This record gives sequence, structure tokens and C-alpha cells, in this order.
Amino acid sequence: MYDLVATAPRRPGPGETLIGSQFATFVGGKGFNQAVAAARAGATTAVIGRLGEDLFAAEFREFLGAEGIGATDVSSDPEHGTGVGLPVLDETGQNSIIVIPRANLAVTVADVEAARARIESATVLLLQLELPMDATVRAARIARAAGVRVVLNPAPAATVPADLADAVDVLVPNEPELRQLTGARADELVLDVARRAAAGRSYALIVTLGPDGALVLEPGRGEVHVPGLRVDVLDTIGAGDAFCGSLGARLAAGDPITEAVAFANAAAAVSVTRRGGAASAPRRAEVLDLAG
Ligand code: ATP
Repeated sequence: MYDLVATAPRRPGPGETLIGSQFATFVGGKGFNQAVAAARAGATTAVIGRLGEDLFAAEFREFLGAEGIGATDVSSDPEHGTGVGLPVLDETGQNSIIVIPRANLAVTVADVEAARARIESATVLLLQLELPMDATVRAARIARAAGVRVVLNPAPAATVPADLADAVDVLVPNEPELRQLTGARADELVLDVARRAAAGRSYALIVTLGPDGALVLEPGRGEVHVPGLRVDVLDTIGAGDAFCGSLGARLAAGDPITEAVAFANAAAAVSVTRRGGAASAPRRAEVLDLAG
């Protein structure tokens, strides 16, 4: 997803043209941001996805190349352009966004099958919900059958179908996503909602809690709260992606879940001290510096 961010005094009304004050562009999207965070955390990383044949795509490929992220399974789509997001930021800092997924929604089961060997040879498959569900489910099943650990960040918030949930080893929602998944009431304690989501499940559940860190519920191992780190916050955009990407990297390196979560908390804490999405993901040495 390529973000074209406009800053204006307020949102324009119907039929109105408004002069804005700033304009910026960012390469982004959850899958892309998480891949960058994983690579910077030290994992050998490759992406499966689809870009258009446009200037945005060229920028993505350059960024992936510079980060050393494999892009062999990122196909070029002559029909649909690269996915774009059009955020408008007003003077109060409120954001409204139009997202047009374009090539992302053209990813097919055949694309995933073409990447089968890459999935099967991986240690961890990190999934989000930005691509068509049938392609996502196929990737999860290929990984599961090959003994590759499947980590799902159910974002943007949506219902996770049973055939996907059954193939997941680690589920990583933020609090609103957890509530959406479970249909929880707003006044229900997050720990109670998490217990309900984990009951009878074979996956580990990690609920991210913003500055408070994360809750970990592992089957047969109980519940742990891994606290967040106190930092001077500049921009929380991409915190969840920094968390998921670095979590995936540490799980791939063989860390136990709570250790991987402690690292992911520190990586996400560094990311909120910087501006930007993908660009704010820290390198492993910077995370270890903060974590002490
Ligand atoms: P975002 O949408 O902002 O990318 P998210 O809503 O998906 O994030 P959060 O639970 O808000 O996810 O944050 C993810 C992780 O980022 C947290 O578990 C924590 O480790 C870290 N984090 C977020 N906000 C802060 C903060 N203010 N201070 C320190 N760490 C933070």
C-alpha cells in the first residue's frame, strides 16, 4: 500500500476544493512494514504479494532491495495498479483515510502456489488480512502442512474463518481486533476477552496493549503480561507492524514466545520514538540498546 498523505486545515466539504499545507508519500501496508521490521530484526525475509506496473511499484522494489528482502514472489500486475492509501490529516491531528487495495486484491491462490517452495522452506510464515482470504488460507495451510510456524496478525480487523484459525500457531491481535474477533462488549476486561478467545484453542494468543506491552496466553503454559517500555512517543503509526515483524524474526530465531514478545515490545517502543511506518522499524542492535 502506497500512502499519499495530505495535510490540510480541515477536511473538504462536498464539492469543495481546499488548499492543503503539506504532502508526503510513504511505502507501507501491513505486510510490507512487517517484512521490513523482520529483516531489520535479523531474519532472512521474503515477501509474497502483488504490485502494479507503475512508479509506486518501482519505489517498493527499490526499498525491498535496499533492505535485502526477497521479492521473487512479488508479481507485477499490468491490470491493477499498486494499492494506495489516501490519508487526510487535519490540524487537530485527526486522520481520515481512503484505502484502495487494487493489486493486493488480485493476489490469487495460484500466486501462493507459485511460492509454495519458499513457504515450505521458511521457519515462520507471517500473515495479515490485507489479501484475499482464499490466498491467505492457502498460504497458512501450506505452511502448517510443512511444519512452518504460522503467525497471524488479524488486521485490518475482520472475522477469521475457521479454516484459517485452525492453521494458526500464534495469533497476534491488538485490543480492538481481539474485541472484533470475539464480539466482546466494550466494557469487558481485556484479560477476560483474551481468555475466551484462547479457550479450547491450540494457538498461542498475544494481545498487544499499546504502551502497556502485551498479554501472552499459551496453551498449557498460562498467562503472562509482558510490560511495554517507557519512551518519548513521537508517532505510533506502524507500532503494531514493528511488533509483529520483530516477533516473527525472534520466533524464527528460536526464542520462546515470552522472550520474543519482550524483544517485540522493545522494537515497537523504538519505532514509536520515530516518524513513519516501515521506515521507523529499528535494527536489532538498536532494540538491544533500549532493552538493556
Ligand atoms: P498501530 O496501529 O499504532 O500500529 P496497534 O494498534 O496495532 O498499533 P498497539 O497495541 O497499539 O498495536 O501497539 C503495538 C505494540 O507497540 C505494543 O504491544 C507495544 O509493544 C508498542 N507500543 C505501542 N505504543 C507504545 C507506547 N506509547 N510506548 C511504548 N510502546 C508502545
